[in-house]
Amino acid sequence: MMEECRISHGFGKDDALFRPGKLICIGRNYAAHALELGNAVPSEPMIFLKPASALIASGSDIVLPAASSDVHHEVELVCLIGERGKNIPESEALAHVAGYAVGLDMTARDLQQKAKDKGHPWSVAKGFDTFAPLGTFVPASEVSDPQALSIRLTINGDVRQEGHTSDMIFTVARLIAYCSRVFTLMPGDLLFTGTPEGVGPVHPGDWLEASVDGLPALHVGVRRG
Ligand code: MN
Repeated sequence: MMEECRISHGFGKDDALFRPGKLICIGRNYAAHALELGNAVPSEPMIFLKPASALIASGSDIVLPAASSDVHHEVELVCLIGERGKNIPESEALAHVAGYAVGLDMTARDLQQKAKDKGHPWSVAKGFDTFAPLGTFVPASEVSDPQALSIRLTINGDVRQEGHTSDMIFTVARLIAYCSRVFTLMPGDLLFTGTPEGVGPVHPGDWLEASVDGLPALHVGVRRG
């Protein structure tokens, strides 16, 4: 479990630390991914929450729960909120971002499908311990345009997901504005912005590398619980 989110300026002495707050996740924010799971492309952002207890740092292992036999990777751009805000205008939204990192929204796809069939929430399918691996943040000032980034995931060196943040249906600024109408955004809150196409299962012994242009890569292993 991760007790703090670190923003690295590359030198260490100026690193900023945030206690993780709520993990706000966006589903179906890339059209090709929505379609690959047989879902419609949404007309407004689809929000769910993940517990902060699911966070793990780079170098840790994803632990596969016995309750699932189909745990999927979803590589995502993650924003760290640095400034409190409610009803944030889209034009001011990016000023609330302290940093950007690459993260994984691990998903027990079989449990999620059962929940969808019953009309139940996704909290279990998305919320197991270790289901939110998160890389080191870079300061937002070092990311000139969050919609101009390549995003990619490899397993054991093979490319599984390769996308671009320009393909997001709802931009980071729009998501922040939208989410802030529901939740007061607090320093330390994390926004997982959705995954491009190519999601698929992970297996014990796999080595995942998640990367976004200009951000430190995230490396995690996979083992059984
Ligand atoms: Mn996701």
